Amino acid sequence: MDISIIYLFAFLFGASWGSFLYTFIIRYINGMYAKNPFRALTYPSHCLYCKQKIKPVYLIPVFGYFLTKGRCSVCGKPFSFLYVAAEIACGFVAIASIFFFKGAIVPLYFIIITTSICIAIIDFITMEIPNFLVGIFFVTGIIVCFLDSQWFAHIQGLLLMVAVFIVPLILVKGGFGGGDVKFAGAIGFTLGLHETIVALEIALVTGALYGIGYAVFKSKTLKAHIPFGPFLTLGFITALVFGKDIIQIYFSFL
Ligand SMILES: [Zn+2]
Repeated sequence: MDISIIYLFAFLFGASWGSFLYTFIIRYINGMYAKNPFRALTYPSHCLYCKQKIKPVYLIPVFGYFLTKGRCSVCGKPFSFLYVAAEIACGFVAIASIFFFKGAIVPLYFIIITTSICIAIIDFITMEIPNFLVGIFFVTGIIVCFLDSQWFAHIQGLLLMVAVFIVPLILVKGGFGGGDVKFAGAIGFTLGLHETIVALEIALVTGALYGIGYAVFKSKTLKAHIPFGPFLTLGFITALVFGKDIIQIYFSFL
């Protein structure tokens, strides 16, 4: 197949997924998901102002936005530009996934990377990590594990993450939340032991630096509650893309 067709297909697939994730973020933040998760996941796209359903042709990722000139065809109110920006960004992440990974793992890693970014955004805004997204992450991680069949390393990664996050959860009130433990466990399972160590180091170091900066410049106290999901996501993606190289550098020092 012509390579440009593969890229186009990847972009459209990525953009459609981005559309789903963006809608999920909006419906989670505005409380629709808390009220009725099934409805929030299945309710057709509609204009946030006049509540009219959006015609299927306008739902084509990216192109739909430009066909409607970014406005509701019924009431004329503008759609958020962030909507199409999220679609375009996910389309490009899908293409980048083809460059960075090989084989059947490509769509899985794409799903898992974009889901982790979605978790980071929601955690940053709401201080919550939705179980639904951690579930998508975990199921995809299990399929990854089936593909490389290194079960032992994946379970070690899971145990390491849970061990590191469960102790502060129990001992320090308001330290890490239950969502952090689940998300960290899913990351550890997906990455396997070695890459998990890389992800953990990056998450803890960047999270600590942010926490210190936040305490010094904003809250003037070390008791500030900061969302940890974004730092786990940063560690996860770095370890997934560059983990093997980073581990090699470690071993060269031994
Ligand atoms: Zn409207």
